[in-house]
Amino acid sequence: MNYAEKFLEALKKGILILHEKEKEEHPRIIGKYHPSSIGDCLRKQYYEFYMEETPSEEKLVIFATGKGIHEIITKILKESNVTQVEASEFETELDFGEYKLHGRVDIIILNVDSEKAIVEVKTVSKLPKEPLQKHILQLQTYLHALKLNNGILLYWDKRKGKLETFSIVKDDNILNILKERTHVLHEHIVNKKEPVKEMVLKEEFFECLNCEYKEICKPLKMDIEEGSEIVVLEIENVLLNTEKRKEACLKELNLDLNIDLKEIDSSLREQFFNLYYSEKYLSYDEPIHENIDKALKYYMQNKSLVIITNRPKKMKKATIDQLIDLGIPYEQIFMRNDFHKGLEFKLAIIKLLQLSGYKIYDIMDEEKTLKKIKKRLNL
Ligand code: SF4
Repeated sequence: MNYAEKFLEALKKGILILHEKEKEEHPRIIGKYHPSSIGDCLRKQYYEFYMEETPSEEKLVIFATGKGIHEIITKILKESNVTQVEASEFETELDFGEYKLHGRVDIIILNVDSEKAIVEVKTVSKLPKEPLQKHILQLQTYLHALKLNNGILLYWDKRKGKLETFSIVKDDNILNILKERTHVLHEHIVNKKEPVKEMVLKEEFFECLNCEYKEICKPLKMDIEEGSEIVVLEIENVLLNTEKRKEACLKELNLDLNIDLKEIDSSLREQFFNLYYSEKYLSYDEPIHENIDKALKYYMQNKSLVIITNRPKKMKKATIDQLIDLGIPYEQIFMRNDFHKGLEFKLAIIKLLQLSGYKIYDIMDEEKTLKKIKKRLNL
């Protein structure tokens, strides 16, 4: 091992020790839970309590980066003449009686009007447009615990060097949510019973993909045996030819039928897709018998059919009606959220199906997409 390698080893060891020390300051005690996690999947919190995983090297580096940024922000604020830092890393507790939320407030500031506010700092790789619900829950915990009215959520984009802040005002309705969530978590922990797969129910599949416990949880486990073979199917231009729907949408918007959608202005493109992914011209879709027969043949060979489609969730009812009309006996359907890119969504679901114990026997999708999926998944 050369000198640089030894140095790297020492650095990694140091981060791990720092992380261990931090953990010792937050021992796992029944009835005492963390504000920073209370907005996370309840099942994940349960696993964290009973079977904590050793953090990956990547997570440890992210932890160290976050710590460094927190410290520098406190220093920066102390230097400013606008606000005064009253405390940092301040321990506090929101007590619900039998159970409580116990954590440390990042920073308490006194602003120009001598009013106190809590600052919660989040280091991110991309600034959110809205504050994340789990961060709001964390900050609301501190506001209620310290009986303060004002909070600031500061997002620090470590990649692009950008900052964003959101004002959060103490909200009594959120206090009820916090109490309810802590109660549910507590009951499951006391009774050693896994909570529901909250992120699956909310269809927050990317949360599952990033979850350390996905292999234990098996988030997409269905009513079919582990090890079963699955055929993944798209609807658009696989089971149904959507060409006529596309044409009708282009005509309605007075667009040339041969236009390249990538070339048009973004607001017009948005109008097109809002129309295309609606029920208005859905009846124009035509069955692609060759692919429908292929899917049914798979079904007869005991493969389970799982639909993963680019269609958004708002089309769910109409889509299910179409699938019933086509006679497709599917096991499960996954529909994209508006903010997900189709390919990334499909990749996430396929990975989660594999992690949940299923074998992907075949994928039926448009040629271009299929190539990309196979390349990204090494299939
Ligand atoms: S895999 Fe998903 S549902 Fe399961 S614990 Fe993790 S976040 Fe929750």
